[in-house]
Amino acid sequence: MVTYISQNAFWGLLISAVEVYKRECFGLLIGYRDRKGPDEMYIVEHALPYQSAGRAHKGVVNNPRAHKRIERFLESIPHLSVIGDFHSHTMWGYSRAASHPSETDVAGMKPENVYVIVSVNDRLREVPWSYNDNGSLSGTTDEHHFRLTAYTVTASGEPRRSSILCPYAFGFGASPIRAIR
Ligand SMILES: [Zn+2]
Repeated sequence: MVTYISQNAFWGLLISAVEVYKRECFGLLIGYRDRKGPDEMYIVEHALPYQSAGRAHKGVVNNPRAHKRIERFLESIPHLSVIGDFHSHTMWGYSRAASHPSETDVAGMKPENVYVIVSVNDRLREVPWSYNDNGSLSGTTDEHHFRLTAYTVTASGEPRRSSILCPYAFGFGASPIRAIR
């Protein structure tokens, strides 16, 4: 299971998370599902921050009526629909942001959708954008360290990581590793 993230969606995820740092952001993933042979792929075209989300340090309150309005709006647009959502986990005091979903996160997941967790921490040193062995994608900007992890959930409610594919991130982060300290 692969989750493709477009350039547009990549920036949407990062900017939404930075906007409200160190609180959590919440938004919708807009795109479509694609099937290549046995492999299902999620194509995320847009990451749309939720302006009506109630924010707290831990967790975001969803707005089901706004969600319904957006889904209805997208019904008139060919090929695009809500395929999941995203939210951020942020650094709190000295504890670094988690990349795994909380129990509440998992409880809100549906098997047909994909979920992206954007973990944001203060940047300690510059690291180039790269894929990690567990399928996540991480790297730094001027002030922040990001890790994007995608999840799906099985019919029985078990979260599963979905590998992220985001070729754009490498062009953007293609700077040599600088040995600091
Ligand atoms: Zn969470």
